[in-house]
Amino acid sequence: MVLKDSTLFRQAALVGGQWIEANPANSNLIRNPATGDKLGYVPELGTLETRQAIDVARVAQKSWARQTAKERSNVLRCWFELILQHKQELARILTLEQGKPLLEAEGEIVYGASFIEWYAEEARRVYGDIIPGHHKDKRILVMKQPIGVVAAITPWNFPNAMVTRKAGPALAAGCAVVLKPAPQTPFSALALAVLAEQAGLPEGLFSVITGSAVEIGAEMTSNPIVRKLTFTGSTPVGTELYRRSAGTIKKLGLELGGNAPFIVFDDADVEAAVEGAMIAKFRNNGQTCVCANRMYIQNGIYDAFGQKLSAKVAKLRVGNGLESNVDLGPLINAAAVQKVEDHISDAISKGARVLSGGKAHSLGGTFFEPTVLSDVTVGMLFASEETFGPVAPLFRFADEDDVVRQANDTEFGLAAYFYSADLARVFRIAEALEYGMVGVNTGLVSTAEAPFGGVKSSGLGREGSKYGIDDFLEIKYVCLGGI
Ligand code: ADP
Repeated sequence: MVLKDSTLFRQAALVGGQWIEANPANSNLIRNPATGDKLGYVPELGTLETRQAIDVARVAQKSWARQTAKERSNVLRCWFELILQHKQELARILTLEQGKPLLEAEGEIVYGASFIEWYAEEARRVYGDIIPGHHKDKRILVMKQPIGVVAAITPWNFPNAMVTRKAGPALAAGCAVVLKPAPQTPFSALALAVLAEQAGLPEGLFSVITGSAVEIGAEMTSNPIVRKLTFTGSTPVGTELYRRSAGTIKKLGLELGGNAPFIVFDDADVEAAVEGAMIAKFRNNGQTCVCANRMYIQNGIYDAFGQKLSAKVAKLRVGNGLESNVDLGPLINAAAVQKVEDHISDAISKGARVLSGGKAHSLGGTFFEPTVLSDVTVGMLFASEETFGPVAPLFRFADEDDVVRQANDTEFGLAAYFYSADLARVFRIAEALEYGMVGVNTGLVSTAEAPFGGVKSSGLGREGSKYGIDDFLEIKYVCLGGI
């Protein structure tokens, strides 16, 4: 299917229930990162449209919150089913704007849909409490109510799943959502909005505003009607949004940067650790906030691990994600390539060795060779900065306490991984790592059933799981007297 025939491909924005078509005179052009080809336009909107969407959302939210949980659940369930029915079309749009291989894009659609399914179920389980009173004639009731209008800002690395992970719990709780998708990948979010309409989501409850990040962000953070801001992106932007939201005391959900350690102890199953490293490092071409960034390998298995990993990495096939048999697509843009190159050349100048890859791919553009480096040490950029690309830097370590200290020696605390067969060590390390999520003998932790989120500069709050809906609810205490 060609893109222009897809009913899910909309060159428009959705503002308070009204579609605003892209106007060539005042629109942003979106390109395919694999080919540089034009994909389409979205309108350049700003303060006014954001305010309109928030005003409409306020009204729509009130009646949505009055519906029964079962009614809200039914709409979300229908949305979930429509997403799965259109899985291939959604995956194609995703690959075209983001670059990841089609199979991986389909995986993201299924993963993204699972948040809508999960929260369609959780919508019916928002329970309050009755607490024994402090006087004989009093009773204490606790009810949970939707927080109101939610603003959401999402990144380009998961153009579908980051939207559903926020919109699912918010809508289930009875909130309305005004979303600003990433400028590189608006079409996946717009396609979700088309399907939400088809599922019967009432008008005005879910807006998708494209355009000026600064203007949209300023309105979202300063408008008092917005009671919660949920953001996934970089720590500097998250910090700025946090600061700006202070004036209206909003609740904040922040999923920010990571610098994930991936530790392999001598007692680990090395084959399994290599498999895990392939997923934790090279999924989405290293462009996820939970990607392994620093790989700490213990002395006894250091060389064997490096050889096995680089042999596998050398077999990864790089190319246009729409072609079959491609494992890694392009990086998102030239700045991403520059960062990867800077990290590699810094490491090599300080003594690191290339085991495989190491340079821009012969395909040109933003394609990069998947890379493994050995002899990486503390003074190199890999130790302190998130690379966000397909490079596995191997640090050597000798001692358990020392590796835990190094792993925790970062401002970030999102995901960490380690491999060990020793039960006592598994508990010791899992408890000692200062991270929101720890993968033990696995390189993949994300799922709708589990709480995703970080500590320290990696963010606030949790997404997914039974905990994820709490961020969209307020607790109200009602004191009943005269009983
Ligand atoms: P990345 O480096 O991964 O693109 P960013 O944090 O820059 O991460 O972007 C994540 C999201 O935040 C995107 O949707 C982007 O447009 C948005 N964003 C960037 N700057 C601002 C801002 N000043 N106000 C609001 N949103 C912003």
